Amino acid sequence: MRPGEAGSAALADVEEPRLDAVPGGRGVTVRVLEVGLDGTDGEIAAGAYGRAPEGSEQLVLGHEGFGVVAEVGPEVRELAPGDLVVARVRRAQGSSLYDLLDRPDLTTDPVTYEHGIAGLHGFLTERYVEEPRYLVRVPATLAPVGVLVEPTSIVAKALTVVEDVQRRLGVWRPRRAAVLGVGPIGLLGALALRLEGLEVTAFGLHPPPYLNATLVEDLGGRYVSTRQRSLSEEAGAEGPYDVVLEATGYSPLAFEAMGVLARNGILVLSSVTAGSRTAEVPADDLNMRLVLANNVVVGTVNASRVHFERALAILAHAEACHPGWTRRLLTHRVEGLERFTEALDLLGTDGAVKVTVGVGTR
Ligand code: BGC
Ligand code: ZN
Repeated sequence: MRPGEAGSAALADVEEPRLDAVPGGRGVTVRVLEVGLDGTDGEIAAGAYGRAPEGSEQLVLGHEGFGVVAEVGPEVRELAPGDLVVARVRRAQGSSLYDLLDRPDLTTDPVTYEHGIAGLHGFLTERYVEEPRYLVRVPATLAPVGVLVEPTSIVAKALTVVEDVQRRLGVWRPRRAAVLGVGPIGLLGALALRLEGLEVTAFGLHPPPYLNATLVEDLGGRYVSTRQRSLSEEAGAEGPYDVVLEATGYSPLAFEAMGVLARNGILVLSSVTAGSRTAEVPADDLNMRLVLANNVVVGTVNASRVHFERALAILAHAEACHPGWTRRLLTHRVEGLERFTEALDLLGTDGAVKVTVGVGTR
């Protein structure tokens, strides 16, 4: 893909990655099994987002990678051939304190590096070479949903952020949560919040019945189509929310969401919105609500190792409480790298929750 150039995504031969590209015998060659696509890939493919590595015009797409270790350098102890792995997306390439602490998700550097998105090649390729610290081992029991680890890490970080921020309250017993958007992040968010024992209302566009709504209901959650009832109307009728997770990609909703928070409630924003939309908001009213109710609005991006580990825990917990539910998110798998454009075309189509590309077999 040539970032910035819509429709330039194509299959191409690239250089074979070299194990010794990582110094000190610390390289790990990963054979890619499956790669998930999401809205970010859609925005990159449409030319609205993304950055090629320095010195290159092309960017290899794909940041939701799942693979198997094929080979390790002589100094690698933490991984062995045959291990299933997911790679972290963001790399600590900068010089900020957070990069040094291996928290590239919190970097204060102006430029960020994300595989398949910004300045680093992605995983829609047969093999890649990575350092052990950027690889997270996936237990074999989670192999069928290995490709969901990266999106789940986004949700895991959002939950962690909520817990960290709400610690300010000393005691906080959230009861009601709203999830805005029922794409993969919204659905995984609804799952994680249900597993934490919260009542969850998920908001999507489409009137039910449809798969995404059924998935919410099968978790014991409530689904509301905003075509039938807006977020504010629903909150007016049913009550405000202790936690709101925004994952629609539609930024004006972030402001509407500020108006549906309960006292001491928190709004977490996770959508990447590369457009230039503007909105008019009831500024006085929102400002006064946030002040008088001790509300917090917080953004969260990406994830670090701890969040990938927590993602594994969420997926395992889900299997115990809602067997088979996570696998139902994997609605479309396109077989073979050479067919990846079909996968891109499937993004956002009716019935598609998670679209993946099957790259290799175990
Ligand atoms: C990715 C994140 C990334 C974000 C912003 C998301 O789609 O999953 O890893 O930080 O886009 O680029
Ligand atoms: Zn993503």
